[in-house]
Amino acid sequence: MRVAVGLVVCMMLAVIPSAAAQYDPTQTPMWPGEPVDSHVHMTWAALTMEVNDWADQNPDIVDLVSAGKSELGRDLWVVRLSDWSMETKANGSSKEIVYIDGGHHGNEYLGTALAWLSAKWYINGWNEGNEEAINVLQNNELHILIMLNPDGNDIDTRWNVNQVDLNRNYDHYWNTCPTTQPGSSAFSEAETAANAAYIDAHVTDADLYVTMHTGVWIILYPWGKWPEQPPDWELFWTIRDSVNAGVSDIPIQNANQGLYPNCGTSRDYGYGKMGFPTFTFETDDEQFVPGSFENLNDRLAEEMDVMRFLIDNVWYWRARLVVQSLTLEDGVLTADVINHGQASTTNASLEYHNSDGQVLWASPMFGVNATNSTTVSFDVAKSDIDVDGYWNLNYQKRVINASTWVNETLDSNLTVTFVEAEEGFLLGFGLFNPLAVIFCMIGVSIISRREDENN
Ligand SMILES: [Zn+2]
Repeated sequence: MRVAVGLVVCMMLAVIPSAAAQYDPTQTPMWPGEPVDSHVHMTWAALTMEVNDWADQNPDIVDLVSAGKSELGRDLWVVRLSDWSMETKANGSSKEIVYIDGGHHGNEYLGTALAWLSAKWYINGWNEGNEEAINVLQNNELHILIMLNPDGNDIDTRWNVNQVDLNRNYDHYWNTCPTTQPGSSAFSEAETAANAAYIDAHVTDADLYVTMHTGVWIILYPWGKWPEQPPDWELFWTIRDSVNAGVSDIPIQNANQGLYPNCGTSRDYGYGKMGFPTFTFETDDEQFVPGSFENLNDRLAEEMDVMRFLIDNVWYWRARLVVQSLTLEDGVLTADVINHGQASTTNASLEYHNSDGQVLWASPMFGVNATNSTTVSFDVAKSDIDVDGYWNLNYQKRVINASTWVNETLDSNLTVTFVEAEEGFLLGFGLFNPLAVIFCMIGVSIISRREDENN
């Protein structure tokens, strides 16, 4: 009912003179707010009332925080969405993290609206029992900073109040391309500094970062700085091909070639400094849309289809290695490793730890391609393998240097096979049976002692 009333009010506002449409905070907050010039867009004041309303009415899934303040002291609201009754997924593993921001450029209304819609879609879906929305919020945290440049937004300008282009103000090759108004130094502006500080404090392990703009209908991945494809080109190309095959034919290109060279952007910073898969989502530049969730959802339906796909599949946007088997034969360890994710990794290694956690043996680095498997072999001295130790697998989530490291102890369902070729018999054991493993390890250590005595 509130939405319907808001829609009627907004449609009336759209046709009456702007002088009569001054924002009145005592009125029911309305999307998108009053007309400014020929556009209709949401003011920061209306957004503030609305996101607080979301938090009040949906405490189970909405956690509202401020990432800091704009140059003129306006809060930079982050809507955090998840099923907050559960700290982890139902199976006990960590939730995936998605970061979204909108409104770097205060005159790019539809991009900001897409960030708003990305929050509202999941809130409405949760409340309506939508299976996809429930599944997403039970398994992920969505952190959405809807309006990064409220000062610029309220006067309908690209720049912030200091006349700085916020999307050239990040600390990644700052001011190294032909550009205008990048600021006096990287993070000279309150808005970009707050955004980076929030990212660093709360979403360092994000597996998706989408920053939303308006201009040409296109999705851009790194780099803006260089024409070359980024180290994780396989991941970006897989996402491009999946979106184009089944969701939308929106062009998806690296920013430098798809748009023009640009430096100090949040996209290049998010990828190059934080290691996230990052996308700039540019909606087209039609500014006017009538208010209400329904109308906006209709206007940005295809863009939301893409967002829902990216969010729904965030589990895949990294390397996800599983060791299928380990075989130790005559001093050589062979590992079959499968990658369930869609990013490659180049820095994987296996370690054997004793029960005190001390590393007794570590393999050289090896790589595993995206959606692929690999078999690697290493020389291992049997004396390096303790009776009651454990195996660790270490790797980076993506190829880019900045990406997060994963350190996992191999799970107890792993089958470890020990083969002693010299003796002409084979010992095959699963870790399902701890006694079998201990027996096996003792067997190995006895053999290895015998060899030592012979030397
Ligand atoms: Zn923009």
